[in-house]
Amino acid sequence: MKSDLYPDRHYIIPVFIPHKGCPFDCIYCNQKIISGQIKDVGEAEARASIDTCLSTIPKGSRAEIAFYGGSFTGIPKEQQIEFLKVANEYIDKGFVNSIRLSTRPDYIDSGILGYLSEYKVGTIELGVQSLDEDVLKASCRGHSVNDVITASRHIKEYGFELGIQTMVGLPGDTKEKDIGTAKKVVDISPSIVRIYPTLVIKETYLEKMYRSGQYKPFTLEETIDICAELVELYESNNIKVIRTGLQATENISENADVVAGPYHPAFGQLVESRIALRKIEALIEEKDYKDSESIIIITGKRRISDIVGQKRFNLEYLRKKYGFKAIKVAGQENLDRDIILGKDSK
Ligand code: SF4
Repeated sequence: MKSDLYPDRHYIIPVFIPHKGCPFDCIYCNQKIISGQIKDVGEAEARASIDTCLSTIPKGSRAEIAFYGGSFTGIPKEQQIEFLKVANEYIDKGFVNSIRLSTRPDYIDSGILGYLSEYKVGTIELGVQSLDEDVLKASCRGHSVNDVITASRHIKEYGFELGIQTMVGLPGDTKEKDIGTAKKVVDISPSIVRIYPTLVIKETYLEKMYRSGQYKPFTLEETIDICAELVELYESNNIKVIRTGLQATENISENADVVAGPYHPAFGQLVESRIALRKIEALIEEKDYKDSESIIIITGKRRISDIVGQKRFNLEYLRKKYGFKAIKVAGQENLDRDIILGKDSK
């Protein structure tokens, strides 16, 4: 397993701990069906994953062990402690700096938070999925909006960094409900957020609903649009979005079969590109460049591909909508994600 580089340049060492025997029935998850095929992960496997990842990380880097793949605090306590002890050995030797884990809001209480704190867990990511009561019910999540609010408050009171994972396009969901969820997440004020499009995965109840016409997934286009709006909302409230991409059904691997839904291998980049397009359009409006013959878009060098868009989508869109004869895109070292718009005189 390879380590991931976190946006603020520290390394994540993922250790996949499936929640075998999870008592819930989230309709998008195929855990019940695949549970017989899930390999048991114990101390030895966790060590092996960590050692493999550590060997790929430059010495002296900031690194974090991440227990992903299930509701960590839903597995038996003795097993949790076993894994946490392994992670603590790496912290004590100075090889890693911290621990993060993902879990459900209803698997958080003061007893649990007490021992997570003792074993140096730094970040807790809650699989929230929606903050709309009807969407939660239709998705059979088995927890309420209030459970999320209470768990989030406790996590922050204990001094952990809080992460929230939400999904877009669950049954009963609408763009307005997704934005409503994001606004409630802003009120909760986590440090980080992940946004996942809902995909129909093979052998799930959602697949049955999809095949019988009871569920219609969001299109790729509308999901990109919604996600772009959500990212803007979070960023304007200083909440870091660390992922927009494949869904976080805890026991579904990223290679699981996708039957339908807004799947795209470069989904995150499509969202970034849409955010760029929205900013450019806002600048065209603000500067009143609608009737210009040609424009120049200047941005950070690494953002040029986001500006252009996949298969030049953004440039073609701007050309068609505003009738520009020429659109020049230029990179500037000091700009990063900022965008400057001007009229091109040449
Ligand atoms: S998504 Fe998580 S909580 Fe829901 S059924 Fe799957 S493993 Fe259980």
